[in-house]
Amino acid sequence: MAIFLGSDIFRGSGYGPGHPLNIPRVWPVIDICRAQGWLNDSQFEMVPPATAKELECFHTPEYIQALIDAEKTQVLDEIRSKRHNIGNYSNPIYQEIYRRPATAAKASLQGAYYLISGKHSRVFNPSGGTHHGFPDSANGFCFVNDPAIALTTLYHNTSKKIAYVDIDAHHPDGVQDNFSHLERIILFSVHEADRWPRTGKKDDVGGGNAHNYPLQRGSNDKDLKEVITNQVLPLLLAFNPDFIVLQAGSDGLEEDPQSGLCYSNQGYWKTVSAFLQLNIPILVLGGGGYNPFTTARAWAGVWGLMIGKSPYKTKCVAESRAILQSLSFPHRLGKNIPDRWISRLYDG
Ligand SMILES: [Zn+2]
Repeated sequence: MAIFLGSDIFRGSGYGPGHPLNIPRVWPVIDICRAQGWLNDSQFEMVPPATAKELECFHTPEYIQALIDAEKTQVLDEIRSKRHNIGNYSNPIYQEIYRRPATAAKASLQGAYYLISGKHSRVFNPSGGTHHGFPDSANGFCFVNDPAIALTTLYHNTSKKIAYVDIDAHHPDGVQDNFSHLERIILFSVHEADRWPRTGKKDDVGGGNAHNYPLQRGSNDKDLKEVITNQVLPLLLAFNPDFIVLQAGSDGLEEDPQSGLCYSNQGYWKTVSAFLQLNIPILVLGGGGYNPFTTARAWAGVWGLMIGKSPYKTKCVAESRAILQSLSFPHRLGKNIPDRWISRLYDG
């Protein structure tokens, strides 16, 4: 059975004015799935923030304390600010700087435990996927590395094999740096070449078990399909993992402002489907996604796929249209929002 993990903390909280992540991302997915009749109460679970101790399975106690202090006082002294890379344009201090990422991390942690216990074989955490975070510092809009927390949990509580697959437009440097040396873990990343953080070149194997597939700017569904079908899947199947963690960042979609990749959401969904169809217990995370319309529709479609619905021809019901119509997108301030961003889930 599939479970969707979320929290009300994602309603209204944000990174502050001017930040690319200061857009609605998680709650529209929840509300659209409910409006479409794809999400009932038994499929949805609220999670609290992770405790400091839980986060310390990957992060240093000093870093977590810095997040707690920054939330409390809304400032951080220069030494800690510098050491932990907090309080700048990318990683600003904001009102929920501890609780919000800690909640996303709790969902990934809980999701990992559900896969281990077998209670759920498909877990969706669209608030997760913050793959750039390092143990002692924030990085690239990511304060807590929730994929790392899921991987740590799966790795240390079982003796099973884990595949981490990342289709975000950006390379998951924080994950690769900390897990690619472990024998029971294999990592795959398909991302845009020469895009920040500029790691993950084709021949970069990290600690040995990372596989990187940088795609040139302008790459489309065909290019994505080719690399997934011909490169990623054969290696993944040969590795024969017991669990999959899929970071499904939507910033590779054509209408996202933070990448030059040109996937349609149909191509993106087919990729997600290819991993769901393996029938291996899977934790699906969000990640990047900087166009709220594109992201909400893409991730609502992912949940649809996880429960056996087809988003490919799905039109938005009136309530979903209203939800989409209400979204703010400062990047396009003053410009018209195309009707197709409102009226249907699929790009087509
Ligand atoms: Zn990204």
